[in-house]
Amino acid sequence: MALDYEIKSVRLIPWVDDSHLHIELIGYDSPHVVGEEIMIPIPRALQKMAFDEKFHVMVDGEPVEVKPGRCSTCGFEPYLVTPADKPDYNQIEELPQK
Ligand SMILES: [Zn+2]
Repeated sequence: MALDYEIKSVRLIPWVDDSHLHIELIGYDSPHVVGEEIMIPIPRALQKMAFDEKFHVMVDGEPVEVKPGRCSTCGFEPYLVTPADKPDYNQIEELPQK
C-alpha cells in the first residue's frame, strides 16, 4: 500500500526580497509515533514522492494531492502546489503555521 500523508501544518519564511512568503517546511503526522509531527523541507518531500510516497491536504473535506510545481508569485522551484490552488492562493501556504 502506498503511503499517503496528510500535510497538516506549514512553516513559511520570507523570500529573499521580503516580497512574499515561501514554504520552508511541511508537517505531517508520524506513521510511527502518535501525536508526533514530522517537519520536512520541500526537497525531502520531493524525494519521498519520487519513491511513490504521496502527500495530500484536505480542502473542503476532500483530499487533494500535493504535486511538485513552482511558486505562483515568483516562479521559484522546487515548490509544492495542489490542483485546488488558485492564482495567489496556495492551499499548503494556508495551513496552520508551526
Ligand atoms: Zn515565490
